[in-house]
Amino acid sequence: MRSEELFNRASKILPGGVSSPVRAISPYPFYTIRAEGSRLYSVDGEELIDCCMAYGPLLLGHGHPFIKDAIRTQLEKGWLYGTPTPAELDLASLLIADYPGTEMVRFVSSGAEATMAAIRLARGYTGKPDIVKVEGGFHGAHDSVLVKAGSGAMTLGIPDSAGIVPELAAHTLQVPYNDPQALEEILSKQKEVAAFIIEPVLGNIGPILPEKGYLETVRAITLAHDVLLIFDEVITGYRLGIGGAQEKYRVRPDITTFGKIIGGGLPIGAFAGPRKIMQMISPAGPVYQAGTFNGNPLSLAAGIATLRYLHQHQEIYTMLEDGTQAIQDSLGKRERGSFVHLGSMFKYFFHPTPPHNYSEAKRSDTGRFRIFWEKMKKMGIFLPPSQFETNFLSSAHSSEDIEKIGKAYASCISE
Ligand SMILES: *Cc1c(COP(=O)(O)O)cnc(C)c1O
Repeated sequence: MRSEELFNRASKILPGGVSSPVRAISPYPFYTIRAEGSRLYSVDGEELIDCCMAYGPLLLGHGHPFIKDAIRTQLEKGWLYGTPTPAELDLASLLIADYPGTEMVRFVSSGAEATMAAIRLARGYTGKPDIVKVEGGFHGAHDSVLVKAGSGAMTLGIPDSAGIVPELAAHTLQVPYNDPQALEEILSKQKEVAAFIIEPVLGNIGPILPEKGYLETVRAITLAHDVLLIFDEVITGYRLGIGGAQEKYRVRPDITTFGKIIGGGLPIGAFAGPRKIMQMISPAGPVYQAGTFNGNPLSLAAGIATLRYLHQHQEIYTMLEDGTQAIQDSLGKRERGSFVHLGSMFKYFFHPTPPHNYSEAKRSDTGRFRIFWEKMKKMGIFLPPSQFETNFLSSAHSSEDIEKIGKAYASCISE
């Protein structure tokens, strides 16, 4: 059955025909039956160079043999026990060694769960109800963080989804990214803030990069106001380098959330911090968190294999940076919008300058993006189908792949 027919059927039994909204593509998405290395293979017989990489987890590409072996080995021993496993200690020890200041870890099953629990932890630890987040920052689909962007006076958050209790959303305040002054003002006024949660590099609208000194200033402001700083490194953890954004920008948060890469492509999330804060988590402390699939053996096996592989092959990070640089170079002077890249993350914004925050990014020409996206797809390259999702390279993208991507970009943006 071909994609169009599958989608027609799916629309009757899955809301919108998909299991997650970002996968909806008009008039219908393509259906994948196999993936390997840098490629996706569709039911329609297409072979596509994948620059979406499942939105982040697959830093080593599809079906990496080292990860596959680890999953297979674990599979033979069973995939869910409902008891502690030695692997939990292994993955936690890796995170603790790679993220200084982190002394304890709780594993969950998704990035959304990680930020949800981290926010609960911050509220439980400080005894304060409010949180501040960045406009356009994405922390998963849960009630405290689904708050409308740019809600003016920035006092009370407004739900960004039906079904969210306004009283809860009101406890989420927002500030623009790259604007330390706004954070300082809000924290001076609002005394009930438990935590500031931020993607250190905005990954779900860009990437949008931090201006020089921004993250350091954010750290200083949160310390001065006695507000916990949560770095949501679900995308950037092990992506910008082994130590994530906090290592790259040399800023240490109080709590870090992880997901995506640390599960090697299987579902995972984790949050971590110093013992004095993490001790608040149940059963050690009063902040409740639990899950049937927490620390499930298969995700841990894939995650441990991925992190070990990255430790042994740190040259991957330089290669990925060179790869996205090569794509930028191939655009030459034809560049009319702006190309932003950092390590394996890249994006072409149909906006004359690299956006500094959400409201600038939102001025991008999404109509032109749409046409560009279609052309890229026709040339055999799959990009996330939104102007506001980061593109990813993986270590499985060959130099020929990168050359093809660069050429396709150059031809598809120039018209
Ligand atoms: C993807 C993402 C999440 C949510 O992770 P899920 O595993 O999809 O729940 C949270 N924060 C950031 C920064 C993300 O990119």
